[in-house]
Amino acid sequence: MSDLVAPAPEVASHGPCAVCGAPGRRSFFANQPFIARRRVEADGTVVEVNDPVPPISVCMEHWVEVLSERLPVGYCDDERCRRWGPEGAASPCGAPYGDLPEPPAHEHEHGEGATDDGRGA
Ligand SMILES: [Zn+2]
Ligand SMILES: [Zn+2]
Repeated sequence: MSDLVAPAPEVASHGPCAVCGAPGRRSFFANQPFIARRRVEADGTVVEVNDPVPPISVCMEHWVEVLSERLPVGYCDDERCRRWGPEGAASPCGAPYGDLPEPPAHEHEHGEGATDDGRGA
């Protein structure tokens, strides 16, 4: 037995590359961590749930381009998909990959186009 303990495998947890479908090697999170959904329970009650947005997985070839937004990726929120892919391309359900669904506006809505590091709080 060697003294070295293998580090946690870096593969296992990544999905297929959002761009080309090759095995993903890196994953990162969208800047919106949850999708707010309204779900109707069996008894008719409407509850709001926060569904986590799945991480964006990419292969080594594409991750820099995706991160730098030279290759924009989009999301399909159809039940059959809930996955990332090349923005504008057709997802398996037929709808194009696009923006994450907007959270239902409540008290304070703030303009569109949220920037990464918000200025002004
Ligand atoms: Zn790729
Ligand atoms: Zn779809």
